[in-house]
Amino acid sequence: MPGRVAPLLVAEASGVRLKLADGRELVDGMSSWWAAVHGYRHPVLDAALAEQAGRMSHVMFGGLTHEPAITLAKTLVDLTPEGLEHVFLCDSGSVSVEVAVKMCLQYQRSRGLPEKRRLLTWRGGYHGDTFTPMSVCDPDGGMHSLWRGVLPEQVFVPEPPAGFDAPVDQSYVDTLAAALAEHAHELAAVIVEPVVQGAGGMRFHHPGYLRALRELTREHDVLLVFDEIATGFGRTGRMFAAEHAGVTPDVLCLGKALTGGYLTMAAALCTPEIAAGIARGDLPVLAHGPTFMGNPLASAVANASLGLLAEGRWRADVARIEAGLRRGLEPAWDLPHVRDVRVLGAIGVLQLDHEVDLGVATDIVTAEGAWLRPFRDLVYAMPPYVTDDADLAVITGAMLAAAEKA
Ligand code: PMP
Repeated sequence: MPGRVAPLLVAEASGVRLKLADGRELVDGMSSWWAAVHGYRHPVLDAALAEQAGRMSHVMFGGLTHEPAITLAKTLVDLTPEGLEHVFLCDSGSVSVEVAVKMCLQYQRSRGLPEKRRLLTWRGGYHGDTFTPMSVCDPDGGMHSLWRGVLPEQVFVPEPPAGFDAPVDQSYVDTLAAALAEHAHELAAVIVEPVVQGAGGMRFHHPGYLRALRELTREHDVLLVFDEIATGFGRTGRMFAAEHAGVTPDVLCLGKALTGGYLTMAAALCTPEIAAGIARGDLPVLAHGPTFMGNPLASAVANASLGLLAEGRWRADVARIEAGLRRGLEPAWDLPHVRDVRVLGAIGVLQLDHEVDLGVATDIVTAEGAWLRPFRDLVYAMPPYVTDDADLAVITGAMLAAAEKA
């Protein structure tokens, strides 16, 4: 269980290595919760941060604006799927989900439909730790079940059938259709993690379900929100997981890798229609104004990180990591306690037939020279894109060792 294992003291981090105070070095298979896609102390990101710190660390983003945030907003509009043209910069992934939901609710109110205020999602999801995101996290699994009865009640459907390559199951699409038909009158939006459900269980599903959701939400006059906080910026092999399906949501949440994992910043993007709807409402602005909104340091690092991604090397890197994870994890099929081995982009997962003891697993993976954070029955890695083949072999070796002994 989280919290029961003493944390390791990290003195420095550079490239893909965490340097512990006791002198040990670990290859980071976690990218600091999936954010540090370029690794640590990247010279381009370090320089962007230092340069911005020399100009202005922060100014309020109400009534004032600045070039790093303007550039970032423009770049995000260009980079994200066609049709998302308005950007709200906020502090963390959870807050971007809060903002996304406010966008949807304010839009529905502005249309004279305040009763459309609930959310529909599929089970097995994870959207963050503040109250609205918790209300759409998996209701039965994980730490948020503590809050059952306190959270707003949302509409849940079963999670999509497992498997990125598994054929689309029409009976599941029918389930989605029936739920939307039943609840459309009270739904502001459907919110899902596209293609990969992350912290709720590291499950992959076929992009066809996203296309089905896009059609059904249009048909039933419900907005569609994609939470790409974990999947965005190349992690699944596409810049955004929505691209696997070729669909544009009405609202898109981004975070984590936005700043290359350097600083806390996230974003919610929406269509002109939603922005125009909000502008016509009783309160003609989005009702959200956090102190550190649009922070210049985070914006400058985000611009530098997006600049690195624009160079395009990430595509070959993620493809190479995908191949390395497949190769390195193949022997896991022969391990007695392994139920499933799945890889997509720079994500590798071993699913076991039992819950892992986190303390035992941590000792095993660190003895192998890697840093991983198994949870429940999952041993997984989401390494930085700059991880080379030798370091990747350390990570997959540690995963196999944990699957065998933890
Ligand atoms: N949504 C998804 C899909 C996530 O994976 C996470 C974080 N693991 C969040 C939202 C919450 O982001 P944050 O931790 O930055 O609040």
